[in-house]
Amino acid sequence: MSPFWKKEKKSDAENIAEMQTASPAAAEEKTDAAQPEITVKPAEAEAEVKEMAAAKPKVLTAVMSGCTGCLISLVDNYDILLDLLDAIDYRYETTLADVRQIPDDQMDIAIVHGSICLQDKRQVDDIRKIRQNSTFLVAMGGCASSGCVTRYSVGGQAATPSHESFVPVANLVKVDFALPGCPTGPEVIANTILAAVGADLEYLKPLAELAGFACGCDLLTKIIGNGLCIGCGTCAMSCPTRAIDMDYGRPHVNQELCIKCGACYAQCPRSFEPTFEMIEKRVMGVE
Ligand code: SF4
Ligand code: SF4
Repeated sequence: MSPFWKKEKKSDAENIAEMQTASPAAAEEKTDAAQPEITVKPAEAEAEVKEMAAAKPKVLTAVMSGCTGCLISLVDNYDILLDLLDAIDYRYETTLADVRQIPDDQMDIAIVHGSICLQDKRQVDDIRKIRQNSTFLVAMGGCASSGCVTRYSVGGQAATPSHESFVPVANLVKVDFALPGCPTGPEVIANTILAAVGADLEYLKPLAELAGFACGCDLLTKIIGNGLCIGCGTCAMSCPTRAIDMDYGRPHVNQELCIKCGACYAQCPRSFEPTFEMIEKRVMGVE
């Protein structure tokens, strides 16, 4: 399987027609590939699974400065977790590996959770190494994507008294996709992994805009200020600190409660422009 980011996405019909002109066997193989079905492989197919793993996206997840709540959120995908793991070639996670050292291997997708502590040279070096060795870098969670609660840290803890400045990943290196939220919802993490595996660029595109500073005030400047708010209340429901009240059909943000997680703006249905193809496919069921 070629990595999706290195080729134009074609429709299933185009893919099959192209393969039929090559060979019937290849067409049959491509028919399976065009409609991927993620299933857990039986033990007797271990060799085949190993062979396939070579073509799956190589994935690394690494924690910087954070509570690892977003990793727990990933694991909270109870019913499809094994299928998710089966769809990727999972190479490393800081909290699961025996070694703390980021591997030297080239990754297709690196998922980082937690913000970067500027006084921690190891973290600064690690995030640069991850960026250098990965095709796509995903900032998972509020701390990685916007800084979130770690922006308020003043340091002074016994073990690391000088650790007092925390910034989102995008302040140091380029981030390709960001998943705001404190923590990011399990479904969003699962959908993003499956979108990457399945080359669903329509799903991934809005996530490319979300890295960097975030605040409840984004709703005022970008949504309400541009006359886009429809008063649906999704922002208030997505806020983990209940910082948003809906008054007279518009969100009002209590800045004393806002932890800058970015969930409200990311969840707002007016913060991204759905394409007609996306509406046809996801809402109307047209393939
Ligand atoms: S208002 Fe709530 S959801 Fe929005 S950034 Fe602040 S804490 Fe996050
Ligand atoms: S989610 Fe967006 S459209 Fe809905 S009330 Fe909040 S700002 Fe308005």
